[in-house]
Amino acid sequence: MDLGARIPSGPLEQKWERRLREGRLVGPSNRRKYTLLVVGSGLAGASAAATLAELGYRVHCFSFHDSPRRAHSIAAQGGINAAKNYRNDGDSVWRLFYDTLKGGDFRSREANVYRLAQVSNRIIDQCVAQGVPFAREYGGLLATRSFGGALVSRTFYARGQTGQQLLLGAYQALERQISAGQVRMHPRTEMLDLVMVDGRARGIIARDLRTGELRAFAGDAVILATGGYGNIYHLSTNARGSNATAIWRAYRRGAGFANPCFTQIHPTCIPVSGPHQSKLTLMSESLRNDGRVWVPKLKGDQRTPRDIPESERDYFLERRYPTYGNLAPRDIASRSAKEICDQGRGVGPGGRGVYLDLGDAIERLGAGTIRERYGNVLEMYERITGEHPYRAPMRIYPAVHYTMGGLWVDYDLRSTLPGLYVLGEANFSDHGANRLGASALMQGLADGYFIVPNTIAAELARFGPGSVDLDHPAFRDAERIVQAKLERLLASRGTRTVEDHFRALGSLLWEQCGMARSERGLSSALESIQALQGDFERDLRLPDTGIELNDSLERAGRLADYYELAELMCRDALERRESCGAHFREEFQTAEGEARRDDEHFCHVSVWEYRGQDRPPALHKEPLSFESVAAETRSYK
Ligand SMILES: Cc1cc2nc3c(=O)[nH]c(=O)nc-3n(C[C@H](O)[C@H](O)[C@H](O)COP(=O)(O)OP(=O)(O)OC[C@H]3O[C@@H](n4cnc5c(N)ncnc54)[C@H](O)[C@@H]3O)c2cc1C
Repeated sequence: MDLGARIPSGPLEQKWERRLREGRLVGPSNRRKYTLLVVGSGLAGASAAATLAELGYRVHCFSFHDSPRRAHSIAAQGGINAAKNYRNDGDSVWRLFYDTLKGGDFRSREANVYRLAQVSNRIIDQCVAQGVPFAREYGGLLATRSFGGALVSRTFYARGQTGQQLLLGAYQALERQISAGQVRMHPRTEMLDLVMVDGRARGIIARDLRTGELRAFAGDAVILATGGYGNIYHLSTNARGSNATAIWRAYRRGAGFANPCFTQIHPTCIPVSGPHQSKLTLMSESLRNDGRVWVPKLKGDQRTPRDIPESERDYFLERRYPTYGNLAPRDIASRSAKEICDQGRGVGPGGRGVYLDLGDAIERLGAGTIRERYGNVLEMYERITGEHPYRAPMRIYPAVHYTMGGLWVDYDLRSTLPGLYVLGEANFSDHGANRLGASALMQGLADGYFIVPNTIAAELARFGPGSVDLDHPAFRDAERIVQAKLERLLASRGTRTVEDHFRALGSLLWEQCGMARSERGLSSALESIQALQGDFERDLRLPDTGIELNDSLERAGRLADYYELAELMCRDALERRESCGAHFREEFQTAEGEARRDDEHFCHVSVWEYRGQDRPPALHKEPLSFESVAAETRSYK
């Protein structure tokens, strides 16, 4: 497997400029001869499809949603980072780069992260030009707030609806191209396989979710922007529909899968309330700008929070991390909350919760200001819990939120398969072992608006436009495989629902490959996953056996892929015998309970190669080197 990252040579600051200068181009009048298949219309996919179409390429864009506006990106609340330094608080491209690299615990590629910081400012300019209604200061300058892992205020936001507003911007740009005939949008269409012709990605097999019809699409390149796989844990903050099928099918066709075990657990979510739940709700990290996290000092203290005096409260993040306090990065804040609850000092039903208290901020700034900043998020909390966050502290607990792992890509965002590019949360690129808040939107839009529209040109120019016949055996073979899988699922006559099987897999992963991992737990999980997969294959009941619109069939297909991915995640977590970022191996921790990295043996990206159903996947390593910064031990104290 070729893991050459194709990073341009020269000083860090000039690498991207150099790639742009030296990359081959496709002439404007030739671009219409190329057809590009963009799968996904969230922030990464919509921005890529719109930009590529604007350049003159013909684009097909696919989404299993009924409208691009319903992509999971719409859920993003808190904001998007950029190094504008409007606040004059010491920010710079360098500082954003360094914070992101350090936040990821030095497990990401230096050159990619630097480019991300460089491009960040252009994203804000582009979105402002589109009319995205970012919050503004009294004087008219865009407002910012702080997010975890940073000592500056660089997060741009539109109340608690930043993802929605950014997506509306990208969607407008996409709609313009749809009406110009440059993009053909395929809503309610799910990609179920990737088609390789002569060693290059040349097409996909997709299912029309309304009619059940399978269709093949051919193009000169395939771009996957299909989001993350956090839903593999069953309960997560992700939109219910988000899934791993597209990237998993590509992996099975030969694309390397990088760092599958790097999953982010977000510290501020509404705690699980019972077994009936199918989803968890995030309370934006931005709340930690004004909210203070605490628990009673006394174990089992049953008093209401307002009856507990200051001297009997433990503001444990402020105590343990005095410099960053409540804005410690997500992995660290989540682990601290878990530790406190494990000690029996958690609050709320089952003791799996800590307080996030806006009391001080309300007293200092007034409820009106707090409502202005976080109104919709607080309203959501009140509706879900029936508790009033302006009067009593909120209860929060960590929940699965984001996947840093994903398909491996080089500097140009190309996977290990020629012709296959991967953007946004679907790739592994920039966040290492832990993503900092407000950097996913930045990455998705950097990938879609600025990076892939430039980098894809070199490969297209090299191969020239070419048509592949949909009657090519590769398309027919792929379609046959997809058809057989669907028929197998439709023939299920067992007793247990998809949801029932899914819950079992999710809770196993949460226990053994969640916030803390151990050799024993992971080894036993590997055995259990196989047993759960066997149960699923033997004892599945689909209430609807029709080929047309069939929600349980869709979900069963996605779950079938999750078993295989879950196994890869546990394998990866087992193999990485160190703790770094969100990957916390209990055997590798400092005396103070912090992650203990092992740079001598694990300063690499782990990339897995599929070798067939009956053979274990092969592990390859892309070594990481840091030329511009020292990979120090992370500290937020
Ligand atoms: C509750 C929540 C709040 C967040 N808040 C923030 C924030 O404030 N700031 C920040 O930076 N990040 C935030 N994030 C993370 C961020 O929202 C996501 O990482 C980002 O939006 C992912 O964008 P994407 O374009 O890569 O994928 P998505 O938005 O997930 O889009 C995926 C697209 O792919 C399509 N798709 C997937 N599979 C297939 C298939 N097989 N066939 C056809 N189509 C397919 C879907 O229909 C969809 O259009 C948040 C995440 C959550 C869960």
